[in-house]
Amino acid sequence: MDRKDDIQSEFLKLKEEFETYQNFAESTIQMMNEKNTQLEKKLDSLTNIIEISKYINSNISADNLITMINDMIIGILGVTYSSICLIDKNTNHLIVKATNIKSNKLNFEEDEFFKNLNNEQPFVLNCKDPMLLGCDTKVNIHSIIGVPIYLRNEFRGYIIVEHTLLNFFSHDHITFISSIANQIAIALENNFLYNQIKEASIKDPLMGIYNRRYFFEFLEKKVLENSREEFAIVMMDIDNFKKFNDTYGHQFGDKALISIGEILKDGLEENDCVARYGGEEIVIYINKAYNHQLVFNRIEEIRKKICGNVVEYDGNRKSISASFGISYYPQNGDTVQKVLSVADAMLYEAKNLGRNRVITV
Ligand code: GH3
Ligand code: MG
Ligand code: MG
Repeated sequence: MDRKDDIQSEFLKLKEEFETYQNFAESTIQMMNEKNTQLEKKLDSLTNIIEISKYINSNISADNLITMINDMIIGILGVTYSSICLIDKNTNHLIVKATNIKSNKLNFEEDEFFKNLNNEQPFVLNCKDPMLLGCDTKVNIHSIIGVPIYLRNEFRGYIIVEHTLLNFFSHDHITFISSIANQIAIALENNFLYNQIKEASIKDPLMGIYNRRYFFEFLEKKVLENSREEFAIVMMDIDNFKKFNDTYGHQFGDKALISIGEILKDGLEENDCVARYGGEEIVIYINKAYNHQLVFNRIEEIRKKICGNVVEYDGNRKSISASFGISYYPQNGDTVQKVLSVADAMLYEAKNLGRNRVITV
């Protein structure tokens, strides 16, 4: 009997131990599964972030990059609306750069609600009543998050994401959108640097007009696009500039060149092009130059502005003049080179006739 009791109590003890271990094992497995799910989620969002950054790096010059990123946010998070607004450098206002909200009058700057929220910090909004922020034609929105975009501590804009479900957004969403905000900041910086380098490679740094290489590429493209489209070529050279430099110094000469660059840019129309051809020689392309008298008048106007312009340097006030030669494509030559050499010959004549004048074929 004693032995039977012993066996019975041994059995119960073992059973209890087994059950304890079993519970322990089950809860460990459950914990591991939860961790696995969390890790999978993290891996997913990491993969998405890597994909987005790869995309950003391969599209640094794309003007529609912000729209692409916004589309990615909508696709990855499955949200109802996503909008990316950036600070406009000139006005210092938030401008909507990309959104899937179908309203062309969307303007966060004018919306009283967003005006109050623009404290440059992340925000989460949940509301049982539908929220119609920024537009009155939206579907009923019950949760919104806003994540600021910062570039080196400088506030640059907001990502605003909206959903129809109440309490849709979790902390993970904010973390994910914050990393997208960082990627956008990097993309903006890349884009800015890319444009700066591009600009430097085609512009003359002193006069702020195009360089010779850009001008020839531009002309070749024009002729290739439409070989029958008429245009004028104007060659310009500053008068007695060597003497000006020798008398007043090279720096005063540089200042004169800068202000001539401004006058030239002002005097041209959108589809014209002006470039520094050589030292103080300038070349101008006049688009659709059908009316030769009109072209002459416009160049004459520029000539007058240049010689009437007073340049100041180190207490000295001086004026400078320039001579111009005009020729036409295709009337004066069937190649760019031929038209240029005719314009050059006209310039030579302008110099011979006493300078500060416009000579046309
Ligand atoms: P002309 O009326 O016959 O054209 O006389 P010019 O003295 O202007 O003769 P030329 O066109 O040969 O002179 C070119 C001068 O332009 C020489 C050079 O010192 C000056 N020059 C060229 N590039 C620059 C520049 O970037 N800055 C300054 N300050 N001077 C320049
Ligand atoms: Mg000269
Ligand atoms: Mg010259």
